[in-house]
Amino acid sequence: MVSRVIPVDPFDLIIFGGTGDLARRKILPALFRRFCAGQMGNGARVIGAARGEMDTEAYRDFVRDSVLEFDDNAECAAKNLDSFLNQISYVTLDARGDAGWSELAGLMMPGRVRAFYFSVGPGLFGDLATRLHEYDMADADTRIVVEKPFGRDLETAKALNAILARHFDEGQIYRIDHYLGKETVQNLMAIRFGNMLFEPLWNSQYIDHIQITVAESGGVGKRGGYYDKAGAMRDMMQNHMMQLLCLIAMEPPAKFDPDAVRDEKLKVIRALDPVPSGDVVRGQYEGTAQLQGYRNEVESRDTQTESFVAIKAQIGNWRWAGTPFYMRTGKRLRDRASEIAVVFKHAPHSIFGMEAGSHRNILTIRLQPNEGIELGVTIKEPGPGGMRLVDVPLDMTFAEALGDDQTDSPDAYERLIMDVVRGDQTLFMRGDEVEAAWRWTDPIIKSWEDKNIAPILYATGSSGPDDALMLMHRDGRRWREIKP
Ligand code: NAD
Repeated sequence: MVSRVIPVDPFDLIIFGGTGDLARRKILPALFRRFCAGQMGNGARVIGAARGEMDTEAYRDFVRDSVLEFDDNAECAAKNLDSFLNQISYVTLDARGDAGWSELAGLMMPGRVRAFYFSVGPGLFGDLATRLHEYDMADADTRIVVEKPFGRDLETAKALNAILARHFDEGQIYRIDHYLGKETVQNLMAIRFGNMLFEPLWNSQYIDHIQITVAESGGVGKRGGYYDKAGAMRDMMQNHMMQLLCLIAMEPPAKFDPDAVRDEKLKVIRALDPVPSGDVVRGQYEGTAQLQGYRNEVESRDTQTESFVAIKAQIGNWRWAGTPFYMRTGKRLRDRASEIAVVFKHAPHSIFGMEAGSHRNILTIRLQPNEGIELGVTIKEPGPGGMRLVDVPLDMTFAEALGDDQTDSPDAYERLIMDVVRGDQTLFMRGDEVEAAWRWTDPIIKSWEDKNIAPILYATGSSGPDDALMLMHRDGRRWREIKP
């Protein structure tokens, strides 16, 4: 079975920050993969724009190197890389001054989709938005794409929204959360709203609790400078984890359209109860004989920034009252493994007696590695020896049913960039959603700062601080093992 590639209109994608790390590792390789899939025909163009002095030839070399380093499709690269590079050009430009802007404006062509990717620090968003208008490069159809972090608290997020709103309508602003571009995350919506099987059980009457884990085994590495100013709460919890929580918890939207979906997500965030201090744990990793601890990596001996956070969140509405959402994320944990686990309640009465064991269904949505969905069901343990029960997975990785081509799906950046070109905002965060998320996380961060609460140290390769385990143990529950 061959993947279906939906043709897109001719487009120009201008990448501000086109020589940066994100462009090199994610955006450019993603565009090349879409080129290989046939979605960059019709003379689509990519224009890198950044401060670095270089000409188009040198930029094409930069793009070639980035594709060869970060795209593993050698066969396509051997055949198509030169044709892809022919569609790429570069303009040296200063977001804060006038250098380069007339040249960029001169490259614009009417009658095609135009998207500007702001792959620069948020401090430049205002300058870029203003210059785009001064140089008459943005019309009502123009789209802008902005990266995380979208602010560092409610106040800064509001200020960013206001800066962008000065020149662009909300319908033109695409705030990226690449977790929403993951195939399995969208599959979660398909599973929930495309089947009769799950939705009737999708509430506190049948679901005991939900666990969301985004665990990384690596440390902050070269991102220490940025990360130490953010921490796990701002870098992961306020955006990615909350988006996952919303998709699990939201009511069925009337349609799969951008505002219908985002309205429902917003209602979930607004229904979140404030978090008591005893329901949050923050940690910081220690080093080993071979690996530096967090403090040494970020070169700040007395930093209080957390590299781990765990929260017990409660949603105050009819569907979820009494069903907690336990979320944890951190670096230098046992493994790189991210999943959502929907843990159903025990059957009300076991007809098989105590010896059969205590079992329950768990729906697991694996985000990385090995994206897929698995439903744990209870069956009889095969063989003689009486009625003993055992949990087995009903695997829904789809590869067998759909064929390999269907599961070789685009990565999150490929899908999201193409959604920008198509003008589909469903998988992008709306301004009010981002603000509501900060409104919930701000008091947690503020209480750490006000009370000067230091993160608890945890061992590299562990599951985080013991207090995070206690967050569930004290409720008679336990975290699932962190394993790929
Ligand atoms: P980077 O520092 O590697 O690159 C910054 C880019 O901006 C460079 O191309 C630089 O030339 C350009 N630039 C800086 N000042 C400029 C100016 N005055 N005028 C024109 N161009 C200018 O940064 P990055 O890691 O690529 O990150 C870009 C954005 O993406 C940031 O907002 C970051 O938070 C976000 N982001 C990055 C990652 C990542 O993995 N790198 C992940 C998520 C989000």
